[in-house]
Amino acid sequence: MDLKSPIEYLKGVGPNRATLLKKELGIFTFGDLIHLYPYRYIDKTQFHKVKDLTSESGDVQLRGVMRRIETLGEGRKQRLVGKLRDDTGAIELVWFRGIFYVKNAFEIGKEYVIYGRVNDFNGKLNISHPEVEEVKPENTNAAETFAPVYASTDKLNQKKLDSKVRRKMVETVFTNLTVADLPETLPDFLMQQLQLVPRWQALRGIHFPKSEQELHQAKRRLKFEELFFLQLRLLQMKRRRKNAIKGFVFENVGEKFMRFFKEKIPFELTGAQKRVIKEIRSDLGSGVHMNRLLQGDVGAGKTMVGLMCMLLALDNGFQAVMVAPTQILAQQHFDGIRRDLDGLDIVVEFLTGSIKGKKRKLLLERLASGEIDILVGTHAIFEDPVIFKNLGLSITDEQHRFGVKQRAKLWGKNKPNPPHVLVMTATPIPRTLAMTLYGDLDVSVIDELPPGRKPVTTVHRNDNHRMRVFGFMREEIAKGRQVYIVYPLIEESETLDLKNLEQGYEALSREFPMPEYNISIVHGRMKADDKEFEMQRFVKGETQIMIATTVIEVGVNVPNASVMVIEESQRFGLSQLHQLRGRVGRGAEQSFCILMTGFKLSREGRERINTMVGSNDGFVISEADLRLRGPGNIEGTQQSGVLNLKIADLARDGQILTAARKIATQILDEDPKLEKDIHLRLKAHMAVVEAKIKGWSRIS
Ligand code: ADP
Ligand code: MG
Repeated sequence: MDLKSPIEYLKGVGPNRATLLKKELGIFTFGDLIHLYPYRYIDKTQFHKVKDLTSESGDVQLRGVMRRIETLGEGRKQRLVGKLRDDTGAIELVWFRGIFYVKNAFEIGKEYVIYGRVNDFNGKLNISHPEVEEVKPENTNAAETFAPVYASTDKLNQKKLDSKVRRKMVETVFTNLTVADLPETLPDFLMQQLQLVPRWQALRGIHFPKSEQELHQAKRRLKFEELFFLQLRLLQMKRRRKNAIKGFVFENVGEKFMRFFKEKIPFELTGAQKRVIKEIRSDLGSGVHMNRLLQGDVGAGKTMVGLMCMLLALDNGFQAVMVAPTQILAQQHFDGIRRDLDGLDIVVEFLTGSIKGKKRKLLLERLASGEIDILVGTHAIFEDPVIFKNLGLSITDEQHRFGVKQRAKLWGKNKPNPPHVLVMTATPIPRTLAMTLYGDLDVSVIDELPPGRKPVTTVHRNDNHRMRVFGFMREEIAKGRQVYIVYPLIEESETLDLKNLEQGYEALSREFPMPEYNISIVHGRMKADDKEFEMQRFVKGETQIMIATTVIEVGVNVPNASVMVIEESQRFGLSQLHQLRGRVGRGAEQSFCILMTGFKLSREGRERINTMVGSNDGFVISEADLRLRGPGNIEGTQQSGVLNLKIADLARDGQILTAARKIATQILDEDPKLEKDIHLRLKAHMAVVEAKIKGWSRIS
């Protein structure tokens, strides 16, 4: 059988259903059909006995005689209760809906097969709304395999293309398949080493497992295969890039770097910062093109590492650029870098979308002539007319906020040789995600905070505590500190959110009246200049309270601020909360993060709050985020292939992933082009994979 056959040729499908399958599920061929796996299984491989049932039994299949069936209760409490008896005992079956219909379908004294979940109702076991069938020749015996349940859509269900029909279709394909139709993709030595079942067996086992164990083996094999080929591909891409692209050689650690390091640097670098600078320096001196991700928790000091790398570029006769996702952050980087480099005869300039006309033209000319050494700015720099004379290093801060395409543009800024690339993350990404999302990048981690930082104390408060929270704010302000109050703002409810912010501002103005107190307010609807003005008042300490929507989320640095109050904090994602909390605790003082919520919290909301209260470590928080929300909701994943994973789960399959990456590395070290006989299957399958996931984004 040819698995490439169009799905309409499958028995019982036809053109209408085929169209729907293509549109709703992307099933074009027989092969596509069997590569969409069930998400759960119904185990009817045994008949349970009533006497063995407990509240922990879960889903069970029983066979017994219907003894009695009666309607009990009145009105909303009305229910139908039946009694099913087998040779070991009897159990109650309960229905709350469709009572009339169900009652008439039963015949007392007749034998039935029922399937459902055992509940414990006040110490008494029952099964509500079970599946029921009369005993017939085909269900007299238990099934041989678990029955797969496939994810469906409303449209598919409407057209009667539900899970059961899919099951039939998959069955049809498998009855006509031979082992040769599902050729092996992994080398024998690898399957032996890892004790993986063959591919054909795994594919059959994932749809129609005979036991838990068989299912487990099938899953393990398919997960490994999926992650392994992904890693193999990413690592191959990385190798190819390194071979194909010559990197500028920065061999001089010259005057600018050394003078800055000896005379200007405002603090002693942490061990982690030094180590990372060394890693980067050895990349830059090697003649290989650098494409590196710099991870580090909020406040770990990534900016300084970036700055020193830019000095290396300058010392070797190149220009450098640093790009940030928001105007405020870019401005802050610019001011900071200018200040740090003061007196070193280095030309630093600033470019954003709002710089226009003559001023912009002049700036671009100076950039093209090489007069400007370091350019700092927003994504306006990605635009085409911005041309450098010789860009040697491009740094992107908070890179997850930029699209892949935008980053690629910056790469192309120096034709034919791209600049070295350093991307910095705002918050750490879980290791498993980094390995897939940025699997073709080298990764450096700053895993140490500058000395003297006290961990931020985080508490959860609700509206009842508001007056106490205000009181606490007053105490802190009396000590000379400053306070942030952040409100959520999302597009869908923007108007309402802004109203909340304004009401909050009014209430606050009453509690903290002028002239004793001054309040800054910043939100997304304000003009850039006004925002900047309000920000600056807070930065300079003219205002004690900054009330804002999430515009301050990224990067703002006011070391004197010691309190971060987050309103409706349950509405923020974990990485956002962690980012916001990172705005305080930057000075020597003990800082506080107060997470305000209403009384009612969803389970997930509560878990997020508890995670924040329980940990200050960005890596721990990002792991929790991945666990709670899955990779699809984590910033930066949307354009990547991470979401196309069919069976592996980055939140749970970290071990398999680590093994897959390690083995892929070993194999490529030994045989970069997969030319050896023992790697023939890999080479063949890679060709298939490449064709399939060509949409995969290259981080560039
Ligand atoms: P992030 O990694 O979040 O971008 P920043 O680069 O903004 O962190 O650094 C946070 C703060 O820590 C800044 O005020 C910076 O000047 C300061 N800082 C960075 N490195 C050190 C260090 N080694 N010692 C003391 N302070 C440092
Ligand atoms: Mg930063």
